[in-house]
Amino acid sequence: MITHDEAEVRAELRDWLRAHWDVNRSLVAWRNLLVDSGWGMPHWPRAWHGRSLPMALLPAVEEEFEAAQAVGVARIGIRLLAAATLLEHGSNAHKARFLRRILTGEDTWCQLFSEPGSGSDLAGATTRAHSDSDGWVINGQKLWTTSAHHADWGLLLARTDWDAPKHSGMSYFIIDMTQPGVEVQPLKQMNGHASFNQVFFTDAKVPAENLVGKTGDGWKIAMTTLAHERRNADALRRWGHASPYAGAIYDQERAEIATVMEPYKWYPQRAGRVDLIMSRARETGRLADPALRQDIARLMMLSRSAEWLAHRARQAKVAGKPEGPEGSLGKLVASHVARAASHVHTLISGADAMLAGADGPHDGLIAEILLSVPATSIAGGTDEIQRNIIGERVLDLPREPRMDTGPFRDVPRNPTRGR
Ligand SMILES: Cc1cc2nc3c(=O)[nH]c(=O)nc-3n(C[C@H](O)[C@H](O)[C@H](O)COP(=O)(O)OP(=O)(O)OC[C@H]3O[C@@H](n4cnc5c(N)ncnc54)[C@H](O)[C@@H]3O)c2cc1C
Repeated sequence: MITHDEAEVRAELRDWLRAHWDVNRSLVAWRNLLVDSGWGMPHWPRAWHGRSLPMALLPAVEEEFEAAQAVGVARIGIRLLAAATLLEHGSNAHKARFLRRILTGEDTWCQLFSEPGSGSDLAGATTRAHSDSDGWVINGQKLWTTSAHHADWGLLLARTDWDAPKHSGMSYFIIDMTQPGVEVQPLKQMNGHASFNQVFFTDAKVPAENLVGKTGDGWKIAMTTLAHERRNADALRRWGHASPYAGAIYDQERAEIATVMEPYKWYPQRAGRVDLIMSRARETGRLADPALRQDIARLMMLSRSAEWLAHRARQAKVAGKPEGPEGSLGKLVASHVARAASHVHTLISGADAMLAGADGPHDGLIAEILLSVPATSIAGGTDEIQRNIIGERVLDLPREPRMDTGPFRDVPRNPTRGR
């Protein structure tokens, strides 16, 4: 049922789009208009480029954009994690300096959290920031940094106090990725792509004003970034659905997607491609195999239940309810479905599933699914970590024993890494 508010919002937006949408405008000029009008992020506060609309009205806004075939603000890649984090924890100066350029797509971002030896245990980070007369100086190494090779800015978690317990000795910084002292080295994965990098910091500078929150707030702020990452994980699967329409603004949007989403181009494969199972089983004639039909049916039931779970979580969010256990359950189920789907793809294609490139079925797509699927169980928190969270926070099982309390300086860790 369309409420009075929704009808009003739809009508106002339709009029605005009719008056302003122009396919021949430049992408940045158009997005500046969106930012000024607040229609780009209508659920954001009015003071910061939004219209303070309730989340529940977002789907209606998105439908109107689609109906007008209009391009929205830049929402892809890690830039939106940066936006969400700065909106919640940034100073007014941060918001004024960075939010607009994130929404117009002029700046791209990366997330510098994981390190060798601190991925699941993110609070074990040993990249350090020490203060000097101008601000902060960074030394250390990050790992698995998606998009660092084309990022303008990074969200950096670094240790500022070695005498505090590990969760409270970290701080959160905005770092210029293009400055001297920041070295980005791409890492090639077994699926042939190079989405992430290792990043080395050698006396890299961060001006004092680029500290987010207070010294020691790093862990709390990183949790905001990660919560948004888990929520947005689904959207990455839909990448590349750039508008099929013709016109200058669409060409620019497609070019932007090709650059910013380049690291994510295999992400749909890591989801196991349940969507291809039935057509592939039909075209190979394997749908007639009674044993395989059982496997396919089991996968379809699992996949449908996972969709409903994700739908429930989205509805709860739109209704403004606090986050429940769906986040960890959804992540765990999604990686289970992806693995099951890659298994069924192998059963359907047989030995051909291992052929890459033009030799393999669907131009090597099935082989790529097999090689990409393990990432689902790792990125954004491994399956084991999700199980720990569900065990401790949902099932109320005893917490894991801790050996890492007290000053971080005294916590046992790999002796080759610095302090
Ligand atoms: C596609 C992809 C993109 C990524 N992008 C980024 C990015 O942009 N920025 C960024 O900062 N990071 C990124 N990461 C890193 C990711 O967050 C980490 O890989 C992940 O958190 C796991 O950490 P780790 O690799 O250090 O594994 P480890 O923490 O070393 O874990 C190794 C194994 O031990 C298990 N394990 C560890 N601790 C426990 C425990 N307490 N109980 C039970 N089992 C345990 C783990 O589950 C895992 O199986 C990305 C990773 C992937 C795969």
